[in-house]
Amino acid sequence: MRYYSLNKQSPDVDFKEATIRGQAPDKGLYFPETIPVMEKAFYDHIEQYSNEEIAFRMIRPYVAGTMPDSELERIVAETINFPIPLVQVQDDIYSLELFHGPTLAFKDVGARFMSRCLGYFAQERKEKVIVLVATSGDTGGAVAHGFYEVPGVEVVILYPSGKVSSVQEKQLTTLGKNIHALEVKGSFDDCQQLVKQAFMDPSLTSKLFLTSANSINVARWLPQQFYYALAYKQWSDKSNPPVICVPSGNFGNICAGLLAHRAGLPVQHFIAACNANDVVTHYLEAGEYQPKKAVPTLSNAMDVGNPSNFVRVLELFHQEFGALKNVLSSYSITDEETKATIKTVFDKYHYLPDPHGAVGYLALQRYLAQHPGEKGMFLETAHPVKFYDVVEPVTGEAIPLPQAVQAMMVLNKQSHLMEPEYEALQQFLKNTF
Ligand SMILES: *Cc1c(COP(=O)(O)O)cnc(C)c1O
Repeated sequence: MRYYSLNKQSPDVDFKEATIRGQAPDKGLYFPETIPVMEKAFYDHIEQYSNEEIAFRMIRPYVAGTMPDSELERIVAETINFPIPLVQVQDDIYSLELFHGPTLAFKDVGARFMSRCLGYFAQERKEKVIVLVATSGDTGGAVAHGFYEVPGVEVVILYPSGKVSSVQEKQLTTLGKNIHALEVKGSFDDCQQLVKQAFMDPSLTSKLFLTSANSINVARWLPQQFYYALAYKQWSDKSNPPVICVPSGNFGNICAGLLAHRAGLPVQHFIAACNANDVVTHYLEAGEYQPKKAVPTLSNAMDVGNPSNFVRVLELFHQEFGALKNVLSSYSITDEETKATIKTVFDKYHYLPDPHGAVGYLALQRYLAQHPGEKGMFLETAHPVKFYDVVEPVTGEAIPLPQAVQAMMVLNKQSHLMEPEYEALQQFLKNTF
């Protein structure tokens, strides 16, 4: 498979190059040249396949030629080594729980797949890869756990001191080994700025093989297709395919679902559930795309004012607005509605959504109210305990910590406290690697 840059100013690359680079030299996102369609029998008989087989078959055409099948089989198995259950909430609404991975959010799937691919490519080059990331909280944890103990890869995570939650900080700082946490006495923007400077510093890049673990990387984007197929495997009424509602921020997750659908996955309709950051909701209503400054909300992983993956959605539909509207709807949900939904779903159905899942639930309910006879699922993208500060006051009940998190909370934090100055980062990298 070849990948082209959506800015069309850089040469095509294979999966390996696209993974190592992340972004094309012209700053475009990489996009597959063709979309390999699965044979109809695959989805007709999906119950017959193991989860690993399903994932392997979906991803193989995208990776083929850059690693042996045996490696890809191992990577796929390690990527989805936790449950992804489809749980019934009420008659016509199900929750696809994507939070059973190590950092309790769906980003674990993409991060685990990408880390292992990079690890394989690094070994092939016999060169250590150094992944540099700045995080405001969630991405760093998924990346840290995804890359933990992957041979040939070292990870350096910069996070703003005192500005991430206690659970998030533990996820970043308690692993050790190949995961290095730099606690920066500054803001998230400072962290990002330091990382940018490092990538532009020839005194580093001439000696060290630096890369990012950006969410636009094809190796994070493409494996997100897996759980859409795994959801369909668990969908009992195959004659009435599901409406799928995805809480969306950067639109990588829903774009993977749309890609799986294009490749043959039966889906009735997609819904992008947004919070007050409603650029895409507005676009689908009015036909004009107007990026805005992000506003903070309770579902903060979706606080994105100019979703970076939306160009991929448009490319998938060849920029045809009508074709896109046939498949995708969007609703924007307020913080008040989010809180009320958490409460109603908990009281009425004894199911506890996190704020992102609640946005998804309500958007799906609105759509279903207009489309009688259809049924759907929302993607529950994070465990509610990650957002206990929002959820607990609404329900009035404490959320028990999952066992893995309890064990982590008692481990010692290992981080290097650092001034927000480039020389400090440079020194650290030169002395460590
Ligand atoms: C990242 C994230 C989202 C948004 O996913 P995108 O792929 O950026 O649209 C939604 N919910 C949670 C919990 C997230 O961490």
